Amino acid sequence: TDLSHIRNFSIVAHIDHGKSTLADRLIQSTGTVADRDMKEQMLDAMDIERERGITIKANTVRIDYKAKDGRTYVLNLIDTPGHVDFAYEVSRSMRAVEGSLLVVDASQGVEAQTLANVYTAIDANHEIVPVLNKIDLPAAEPERVCEQIEDVIGIDASDAVKISAKTGLGIPDVLEAIVTRLPAPTGDADAPLKAMLVDSWYDAYLGVVVLVRIIDGKLRKGDKIKMMNTKATYPVDRIGVFRPAMQQVDELGPGEIGFLTASIKQVRDTRVGDTITHEKKGTDKALPGFKPSIPVVFCGLFPVDAADFEDLRDAIEKLQLNDASFSAEMETSAALGFGFRCGFLGLLHLEVIRDRLEREYDIDLITTAPSVIYHIHLTDGEMLELHNPADMPDMVKIDHIEEPRIKATILVPDDYLGDVLKLCQDRRGVQLDLTYAGARAMVVYDLPLNEVVFDFYDRLKSVTKGYASFDYQMIGYQQDALVKMQILVNDEPVDALSTMVHRDRAEARGRAMVEKLKELIPQHMFKIPIQAAIGGRIIARETLSALRKDVTAKCYGGDVSRKKKLLDKQKAGKKRMRQFGKVDIPQEAFISALKMD
Ligand code: GDP
Ligand code: MG
Repeated sequence: TDLSHIRNFSIVAHIDHGKSTLADRLIQSTGTVADRDMKEQMLDAMDIERERGITIKANTVRIDYKAKDGRTYVLNLIDTPGHVDFAYEVSRSMRAVEGSLLVVDASQGVEAQTLANVYTAIDANHEIVPVLNKIDLPAAEPERVCEQIEDVIGIDASDAVKISAKTGLGIPDVLEAIVTRLPAPTGDADAPLKAMLVDSWYDAYLGVVVLVRIIDGKLRKGDKIKMMNTKATYPVDRIGVFRPAMQQVDELGPGEIGFLTASIKQVRDTRVGDTITHEKKGTDKALPGFKPSIPVVFCGLFPVDAADFEDLRDAIEKLQLNDASFSAEMETSAALGFGFRCGFLGLLHLEVIRDRLEREYDIDLITTAPSVIYHIHLTDGEMLELHNPADMPDMVKIDHIEEPRIKATILVPDDYLGDVLKLCQDRRGVQLDLTYAGARAMVVYDLPLNEVVFDFYDRLKSVTKGYASFDYQMIGYQQDALVKMQILVNDEPVDALSTMVHRDRAEARGRAMVEKLKELIPQHMFKIPIQAAIGGRIIARETLSALRKDVTAKCYGGDVSRKKKLLDKQKAGKKRMRQFGKVDIPQEAFISALKMD
């Protein structure tokens, strides 16, 4: 295809502002997919994505569009992941295209992820077309939102396209804007092959599928390719494009976006951001800025039933085929037995993987408290990276401890600002900035990541009734007074409940945890002390009194079937418990105990 007839773009938006709906309309109105085959949210493939309304993996579609100038253009849309955990993937896929549609819900205005995503697009030198969506809603205020885009983001919104992705209003204008306002790609078809590895995933039939953007040169079936960072070489089996179903083609040239398969065994062998070239007569200049994505949040995953360990191992290996950014190492815990210590890009990523293990592989899991990576500086000058509080070395060997901190940007209506400031303050935040955009405040905080990984986002949503939006980036490590807090149940330490806490907060946190555990652990035939301790010192204690729990006591008369039902329920509940010494601790206790109200 002639370069001047190609337009490559992505859509950037805050969650729920209508990115997927717009993508569907673009696909549908150009006849890329016949109406009868159209299902909502074509590009959101995974169940979890649909349920949570988020896009996890980048997806792509190639659209043919006959423009008003009479010429037919090839439009390549790359749908980027919408969540902060996947910031690196977003920034790579942005570098594969030349422009962005900035979708803003005209009834909501600019939100935190609008900002984060649009700045990534600006960093990638994109031409940006603002699109105001949902103008069918009575609450839509397109003029005000245009002003806000100019004030807050600093881009011209005077010719923003006003649309309703739901009704289809304004979709032709979006297509014309893509052709007339976004630049065509550039590239040299005669130069050595240089292609960007934008994304990859595992397909049960084809093996690893690699999404590529050709920068220079040509890629053909049968070519021998080389990944410049991993140095691995492969013969190419297939190349093709997405419409959005896969369609094979003979060649991909500069400016084009498509896929290749090459009997690559694992997604791990395909690093997002890597440069692909020919094994012979290839380019020697890799694309700049490659970096592997690294896990920042760790937690233990253990099967509730120890007999499921092998199933869990298989399931983790299968998921890793598709997701190279999550790590897993075998771990043994005195209390929980065999399991895995897993690393994730962020908390959402953790939840997604845990849900998939439970749902798709039907394994009941105990998830231990998420932890960040601490830098433990020992008195002998060595530095340890601590992924698991249970592995903390002896206090006497430690000189000081550093923890990761983030810069968090929160946008919130004025009315809730006080609650947000209090929440950030409670989480050891340091305020960096506070500005206003209309009736919304934008606050920037420096916060310890460990105070955020757990339930910060839930708390933020609840104190602001869902009106706040949030985004963050890592800023580095800083020393603080951190200690390891242990929980003892019936005088036995439960390593899976160990956490790192700030010394000044340890007592309050310890008290809250033992009180929570007292509610969560069912009564037994004997008394159970529940304690929080730092080193050998007990800082909080509760006692669970002894009682025999007779669930059938409430049944008057002799309704046998009801009695049986209750007993079955009790049995099912027992299955989700884990025995610690003589004490049964329910699975949900491991997470709930750490939530702060
Ligand atoms: P995404 O998270 O940005 O991909 O947003 P979605 O496309 O999933 O849309 C979020 C919600 O907004 C869905 O319930 C859509 O049906 C709805 N929505 C999207 N566009 C419009 C629109 O133009 N008008 C109205 N009223 N609702 C819309
Ligand atoms: Mg979506």
